[in-house]
Amino acid sequence: MERVIVDMDEVMADTMGAMINWYQKEYGLEVDSNKMAGGSWMKGFPEEHYPIVKARLHGPGFFRNLPVMKDCVQVLEEMNRRYEIFIVSAATEFPNSLKDKLDWLLEHFPFFNWRQLVLCGDKRMVSGDYMIDDHVRNLRHFNGKKYLYTCAHNLEETGYDRINNWKEAGEIFLSPGFLSQPSIESLPGTKSNSL
Ligand SMILES: [Mg+2]
Repeated sequence: MERVIVDMDEVMADTMGAMINWYQKEYGLEVDSNKMAGGSWMKGFPEEHYPIVKARLHGPGFFRNLPVMKDCVQVLEEMNRRYEIFIVSAATEFPNSLKDKLDWLLEHFPFFNWRQLVLCGDKRMVSGDYMIDDHVRNLRHFNGKKYLYTCAHNLEETGYDRINNWKEAGEIFLSPGFLSQPSIESLPGTKSNSL
């Protein structure tokens, strides 16, 4: 069964959107997406407010209440039947996010098993057949096929095939003929083993 590595923030969860919504309600200031180019959505916030944005990322609860990206649940549920899926999030920078991320995943994606969530600090040790991620720094070292998930901070990147939304992900991964092999395996505990 082919393995797909899926990122969480800005791919499954609208982390940046949640932060912008909160920030605009609290401070009434605009966030400038033009300043995000080069890989950091934080740079869209006024520089003097970086510390409060960082503090919110580090605090408990922020990652527990993020909106789910449109069509993500339906497409991943179907992909989970055909691929070995691992959700890999470089999360240990934010220790309070770890339980929040597990709880968030199991609430919104109940078809995933806890074994499928990998919370790490660096994705260089990850291997698989496909990776979907919004950061070039995570895709760069990957051994399989790389897809850059479009986000405001990566619009200027030209070196990767893109997935712009989950409808497009479904068109790629769920199209007949995309799978090189029929799926006959499953992760222990995730599905019945009967064929
Ligand atoms: Mg991400």
